[in-house]
Amino acid sequence: MTASQPLLPYARPIIDEDDIAAVAALLRSGAPLTDGPAVDAFEESLAKATGAAEAIACSSGTTALHLMMLALGVKEGDQVIVPTITFLATANAARFVGAEVIFADADPTTGLMTPENFEEALSRATPGKVKAVIPVHMNGQCCDMRGIVAIAKKHGIAVVEDACHALGGTYPGNESVPVGGLSDVAGACFSFHPVKAFATGEGGAITCADSKLAETLRILRCHGMEKNYDDPLMKEFSHASDGTPNPWFYEMPELGWNFRLSDIQCALGTSQLKKLPGFLARRTELMTHYEKALKPLAPVIQPIRRVGGHPGWHLNAVLVDFPAIGMERAHFVNRLKAEGVGVGVQYLPVHLQPYYQGLYGRRTLPGAEAYYAKCVSLPLFPGMSDADVDRVVAAVRKVAGL
Ligand SMILES: *Cc1c(COP(=O)(O)O)cnc(C)c1O
Repeated sequence: MTASQPLLPYARPIIDEDDIAAVAALLRSGAPLTDGPAVDAFEESLAKATGAAEAIACSSGTTALHLMMLALGVKEGDQVIVPTITFLATANAARFVGAEVIFADADPTTGLMTPENFEEALSRATPGKVKAVIPVHMNGQCCDMRGIVAIAKKHGIAVVEDACHALGGTYPGNESVPVGGLSDVAGACFSFHPVKAFATGEGGAITCADSKLAETLRILRCHGMEKNYDDPLMKEFSHASDGTPNPWFYEMPELGWNFRLSDIQCALGTSQLKKLPGFLARRTELMTHYEKALKPLAPVIQPIRRVGGHPGWHLNAVLVDFPAIGMERAHFVNRLKAEGVGVGVQYLPVHLQPYYQGLYGRRTLPGAEAYYAKCVSLPLFPGMSDADVDRVVAAVRKVAGL
């Protein structure tokens, strides 16, 4: 391997000719470019794939989380429990609606918020103020949802899954249920950003069991606009004096946003979603290959602990004992890059971000900080070959001097 080899990124989408053809067909058909039948078709296939009663497409994983906060009525003065090992957007969603974030710690061997972490965060919250908890299925492995839902139920807290890493997976101890298909949570949020399970450019969705909630989400996604002829708030706008409905009528009982996903993106999404099982099968094969190849490097470098279920493997996080290899992470990452291996670090604990330290001061969450100190994400995407995995592990070995 030489430095002149093209960089193997940590993630990369696969767009095939049939994906391109699906988008081109939509564009050529004269069908609507937004708010049209391609959105319904995408939502239907996503609901089928997750086993959820409802799927609501929206403009990103971030707006999916934001919409859930809005639809659940989370507001200023409320509190939301969010694990600190996650992308910024999970915590920011609570702030978008003016709620306070209570950061939960994580298991240092998985990066996941455990039921114990949830309870500990709850003990720091104001009694009665916590309206939601957002467990994050970090790297594609699911949190212990039975444990988390049981605690949430006891305290009347809504559970919103941040499943942006886990589309296509199943729950440990509940393998027949696809991620997004649980009926005892409020809903699950997904992202179709190009590094995720499949790509629509920008894009996201919510799955949920409650059709009333789904309706609210669809209204909030489109400016809060309703066409409620049966029970309008403003009858003088909805009907003519003889009862004939006014075709142009709409009304806005609550403030809404424009968080729609276009038909162009949905056409790409429907085409990509067909390949999700194949993508995930390849990711899973690559993870198995990685596990084998990394074995000789333990305990200095090892995969995160496996929690069971069929993970929707998104990131290949490994834990590196940097003091043991006598190297700081920056040098490790830069030297791997020089060897043609792109590496990520997911994530900087959100509670340490300047914005959140400014709000809440500096707090120590030891499990999360221990996870952060060791984690690196090695390349993982369905277009990788077994030889790529061997190349990555050889580079890791060389750089670490193992
Ligand atoms: C990607 C991601 C998001 C945000 O999704 P976008 O589509 O980029 O807005 C939120 N949470 C997690 C855990 C993510 O990985």
